[in-house]
Amino acid sequence: MTDGTPRHPDPAAAPTRDHTAADASAAPTPILELDRLTKRYQKLTALHDATARIEPRRIVALVGPNGAGKTTAMRCISGIHRPSAGTARICGFDIRTQPIEAKKRLAYVPDDPRLFENLTVFEHLRFVAAAYELRNWEPHADTLLERFELTPKRNTIAADLSRGMRQKTAICASLLHRPRLLILDEPLTGLDPMGIRTIKAVIREHAADGGAVLLSSHLLALVEDLCDWLMVVHKGVVRFTGTMEEARGSFAAAVADANLEEIFMRATADTAPPTAAPPTAPVPPPEPGR
Ligand code: ATP
Repeated sequence: MTDGTPRHPDPAAAPTRDHTAADASAAPTPILELDRLTKRYQKLTALHDATARIEPRRIVALVGPNGAGKTTAMRCISGIHRPSAGTARICGFDIRTQPIEAKKRLAYVPDDPRLFENLTVFEHLRFVAAAYELRNWEPHADTLLERFELTPKRNTIAADLSRGMRQKTAICASLLHRPRLLILDEPLTGLDPMGIRTIKAVIREHAADGGAVLLSSHLLALVEDLCDWLMVVHKGVVRFTGTMEEARGSFAAAVADANLEEIFMRATADTAPPTAAPPTAPVPPPEPGR
């Protein structure tokens, strides 16, 4: 079990596709792979055939209009919703068939985190530590609480926290088991300026340490400042994945120095052509017998 010592420990068990030294020509296992991920709610297809590949050290902005399918995608990746078809792999572990190994490596903070109203801030962290069977987690918990200015609220029950403090508690709890993939739904909403600065620093450190971050936000200026990779979803379809520069080339080549807002408007216009093939198509599975 994770003892919290290494920042991003290697997977303990073999993932579905483990690229060994003997297979040096193969691409390394991505932190997140969407493989034709599809989610239907009755007749509505909220996410259709989403395919993408997120490498270590990437900070990815998942953007799209209201109802585009962002939260649906994040819930499927996190194992909260069962995909209707396709799958997501986290560090090579399939969220459908290897959910425990996959979930050990990810953390998901929803936009409205649910807390246990009668547990204190610290008891939430203790609960998470028990769930993930962490050892020696207390110093890391203390550091997180200090960074998010929650130390004075350490023994306060959730029912008595402000909205921003609840959000910070959920973020601290999500980071305690040192996930490799951090999924944040609207992480900046509700945080004060100091909280925003802290979460931005945490996100950058997480990526610098070899993790990856997938975050959704409508605050495009903040996203542009933070993210180096863009995933645009519109009406359940991934219209684009790639760098900001590539997005400019695809959607706003005629606009000098187009910002993310301009790219967003063009990429989600109903006449915008979806990207034919994402620049990071999934690696085909090895052939049997190889
Ligand atoms: P927003 O930016 O408004 O948060 P979103 O991109 O996160 O939007 P989703 O919440 O993924 O969008 O919703 C995608 C579509 O799926 C919407 O049409 C929504 O009404 C529908 N939907 C979401 N959850 C459910 C559900 N549990 N049952 C039925 N339909 C749902």
